[in-house]
Amino acid sequence: MQLYSGPINKLIDELAALPGIGEKSAQRLAFHLINMPKAKVERLAASIVEAKEKVCYCRECYTLTDKDICPVCANEKRDHTTIMVVENSRDLAAYEKTGKYEGVYHVLHGAISPMIGIGPNDIKLKELLERLKANDIKEVIIATNSSLEGETTAMYISKLIKPTGVRVTRIASGVPVGGDLECIDEVTLLRALEGRTEL
Ligand code: ZN
Repeated sequence: MQLYSGPINKLIDELAALPGIGEKSAQRLAFHLINMPKAKVERLAASIVEAKEKVCYCRECYTLTDKDICPVCANEKRDHTTIMVVENSRDLAAYEKTGKYEGVYHVLHGAISPMIGIGPNDIKLKELLERLKANDIKEVIIATNSSLEGETTAMYISKLIKPTGVRVTRIASGVPVGGDLECIDEVTLLRALEGRTEL
C-alpha cells in the first residue's frame, strides 16, 4: 500500500539511500523539505548540483576541491616531502583544524575491506605510489582509522612502500578503535601524530 503520493515516496526513497539516513529520518526530512518555502528548496537543490559539478579531486592529493590543486598542495610553505595518508577529506579537515601539521596529504577515499569487496584498486593507492615515484618523499605517515579496515590498509601500504626506502610511520593507537578521525578532539589527534611509530 502506498502511504504517500508518488513524488513524496520518490523523495523519501532518494533521501533514504543516503548514508546514515534511515527510513524514519528520510520521511522527516522529506516532509520538512515539502514544508519549506520554495525559494529555500531551490537554493538547496541548486547547491547540491553546483557542488557536484564544481567539486573535483585535487590533482596532487585527491582531496575534494573546486580547484585544480587544493590550497594545501598549492601552499609553498608546506613540507611537500612528508605525506599523511588519510581515508577521506573529512579526516584531512580534522588534521588541518589542529593547525600543527605542516606536511601535505594523500586522500585514499576509502579503506581496504575484503568483507565488502573493497580492494586496493578501489582506493587511491596506485596514485600514492605514483606520487612517491615522481617526487622526493622523506616520510609517509599512515593516518587511516584504527578500525579493522584502517589497520588492514595501513599494513598493506607499509608493505608496498617500505621496499622503496621511504620512511613509513603509523599514527599512535591513541585513536579509539573504529573512531572516525573527524570526531576526535584536536589534542588526541596531535598526540597520535607526535607518538607515531615506525612501520
Ligand atoms: Zn591537494
